Amino acid sequence: MADGHIELSKARILVTNDDGIGSPGIKLLEEIARDLSPDVWIVAPEQEQSAASHSLTTRRPLRISELSERRYAVDGTPTDCVMLAVKHLLRDHRPDLVLSGINGGGNVGEDLTYSGTVAAAMEATLLDIPAIALSQHFIDGEAVPWNTAAKFAPGVIRQLTRLPWPEHTLMNVNFPAAPPEHVRGVAVTSQGKRTIADNLTERLDPRGKPYYWIGPVREDGVGEPGTDLAAMNDRQVSVTPIYLNLTNVPVLALLKKVFR
Ligand code: MN
Repeated sequence: MADGHIELSKARILVTNDDGIGSPGIKLLEEIARDLSPDVWIVAPEQEQSAASHSLTTRRPLRISELSERRYAVDGTPTDCVMLAVKHLLRDHRPDLVLSGINGGGNVGEDLTYSGTVAAAMEATLLDIPAIALSQHFIDGEAVPWNTAAKFAPGVIRQLTRLPWPEHTLMNVNFPAAPPEHVRGVAVTSQGKRTIADNLTERLDPRGKPYYWIGPVREDGVGEPGTDLAAMNDRQVSVTPIYLNLTNVPVLALLKKVFR
């Protein structure tokens, strides 16, 4: 665990994502990382892995393709990418920082439990490497406002890496669905919860058998004040510290009374 802050200009940065190595968001994140440090490595999924969550591929072999210098595609999940990068490709000199994203679409509220973007940061955190997940929220049917992430991500990454990195913690950063000039600062938030709308579609296949398709319609809601959802609604950049010890500490005391 890093006790002090991260010296960005000397840091080895691993960039990964869940949208896949060919996605626009990872190209932007690579550019941002290269402005921060000369030592940037890309290890990302060959194919889109959105909503892969923290899955690990254990029942088939994994292949790594070297696409160019310091750029590798893996035929697996975001978690596989971080594991192969840290334990194999960069085993002689581990990354000092993992950046995951920039995801096309927000990762707020319960998205965190499905997100491959956040899971890559989780894997890094489990390996004791500071990690930041970055996502660009957008409105369905409209263009992704990548220039908002482009404007705000470098400053947020610099601010976060000046901190002594907290234990078992990743940082979840979301950029609102608004052009940069309409963004109203940075909000430190907690994870919100949506009102989930009907997001399951049932249709008939050409042979008349029903099939089901999950997503993508979800009610965003405005979110409770102080949450990541509220920040998106208020056109603020959201920064949420996510703690990987999932124990509900107040409930411990309650349960101990029940099971004594
Ligand atoms: Mn994604």
